Formats: sequence, C-alpha cells, structure tokens
Amino acid sequence: MKTLILGGTREARELADIASGERGFDIVSSLAGRVRDPVLPVGEVRVGGFGGVGGLREWLRGNGIEVVVDATHPFAGGITANAATAAASLGIPVLHVRRPGWTEQPGDRWMRVPDLALAAEAAAALGKRVFLTIGRQGVAAFAHSDAWFLIRAIDPPDGAMPVDHELLLARGPFSVADETALLTGQRIDVMVTKDSGGALTEAKLIAARELGIPVVMIGRPPLPAGAEQVETVAAAWDWLRARRGTARWADRPRSEPG
Ligand code: NAP
Repeated sequence: MKTLILGGTREARELADIASGERGFDIVSSLAGRVRDPVLPVGEVRVGGFGGVGGLREWLRGNGIEVVVDATHPFAGGITANAATAAASLGIPVLHVRRPGWTEQPGDRWMRVPDLALAAEAAAALGKRVFLTIGRQGVAAFAHSDAWFLIRAIDPPDGAMPVDHELLLARGPFSVADETALLTGQRIDVMVTKDSGGALTEAKLIAARELGIPVVMIGRPPLPAGAEQVETVAAAWDWLRARRGTARWADRPRSEPG
C-alpha cells in the first residue's frame, strides 16, 4: 500500500520504521527541509515543500499514493490543512497523528494563550527575563518586546528577533537537571512554550514547576473539520494495517476535476 508519511517528528520516524519493514507497505516519508541536519526516517525520504495544495495533489496522484498519514508537528497547521484538502480531492484517506498536549500538574503556574501575539503580551506582563522555547518559528512575534530573551532552537530563527537576546542552539531531549541549571543560571522569570506535548521536551516544564516559574503555554491550531485523528504510533499502525488490502489506487473515487 503506497503510503505517504508527512513527518518531521519522532512519531513519523517510528511509524516509518515499523511500516518499512512490513510486507505490503511501500512507504515514502516527507520532510519540509527546514532543519539543516535532520534526523532522517528509515526508507525512502523526499525533502521540501510540494508547492501548496495543488502541488501536493499532483504529487499524490503522480506517485500513486493510496493513504496519507499526517504525523507532522501539532503546530504545523499549514501542511496539515493542505494534506486534508489535497487528499480529500482525490478520495485518499488521511490519518492525523497528534500526540496529546501537556496537562497542568499541581504546582504549575501556567497561562494558556491561543496564539503568539497573546503569548508575547503575557510574557511581557510576567517578567523581564524570558526563556523562549518555541522553536525557530514565531520568534518575530516577540521582536518588539523590551524584555531580555534566552531563545532556544535547533537552528537559528529567521526574521526579526528581540533586540536584547541570547541565542542557544541545541537539540533535545534535555534532562530536568540541565533545564533547572539553565533556568536558574540565566535567572529566568518566565518561560514561553508551545503545547507540543510528548516526553522529549517535557523536562523544561518539570524544572519550571519545581522552581515556581510561570509558563506561557501557546495552544495548538485546530485540526481540519472532520479529521480522523489518533494519538499514538501504535494506533496509527493499527489504522494502516486495517487499510491494507482495501485501498486500491485503481478503485479510488475520482471526484477531482480535470
Ligand atoms: P507548516 O507551517 O504547516 O508548513 C508550511 C509549508 O512547509 C507547507 O505548506 C509545506 O510547503 C511545507 N511543509 C511542511 N511540512 C512538510 C513536510 N513534512 N513535507 C513537505 N513539505 C512540508 O509547517 P511548519 O510549522 O513550518 O513545520 C515544518 C516541518 O517541521 C513539519 O514537517 C513539522 O512536522 C516539523 N516541525 C514543526 C515544528 C513547529 O513548531 N511548527 C516543530 C517541530 C517540527 P508547500 O506548501 O510548498 O507544500
């Protein structure tokens, strides 16, 4: 079954790893190509944007894709929407894999906000030394703040940055001890993060809880209406196995114009 896995996450790599070794599956993983030195999934990999919904639709058709698994990051709303639209126009089933978001624990001091602009406002109100751990995208929303920022990302952000900042290029996972040392050493007043979920980057939240540091938690963009969703790689694998044998390229609905 010719399967496209939209990736850039640990879940996508795990799914490619499991499915590539199984008879009856023909897997292609796709990465956006944003990170300079990405951790690659096993098996066939393509890199780079498709060129919007139209480009993705043509790529799906040209490559005979029968199912799409969108295992992109919970904040990659653009490719998720494009995948849903392009696949629907070809009658191809799409599964979205979204790990659960983080849940507040006793001792946490979280402020949930729906977007970057409100996160910038909240951070400014909560302190003068901000740990910005939202990845390389979205930093520009904080560019006009007078606070000092410790900005951590895998690759340098492009676009505007706050004037007063230090850039820390690092790839997780990080330990609670290291996160605690970073927060105390840099005298951080407030942390800003996306609600990415997952264990890999959770240590910073535990460190903030133990130190009583407030966290501005940016909410996820919604999935497309009616999207089929699972939370784990195991559930995605079950879904794929259930599809195998039923999805034949020749039998797919031909609802697309032209
Ligand atoms: P996005 O805003 O949803 O996507 C912007 C454009 O990048 C898409 O329209 C598409 O270009 C291209 N693209 C994104 N993911 C792609 C993929 N897996 N394969 C091929 N093209 C892709 O996405 P983003 O937030 O920039 O994230 C880019 C990638 O980084 C995603 O794959 C995601 O899983 C990973 N990632 C994102 C974050 C985050 O915080 N956003 C964190 C960790 C990892 P075209 O329109 O030209 O097809």
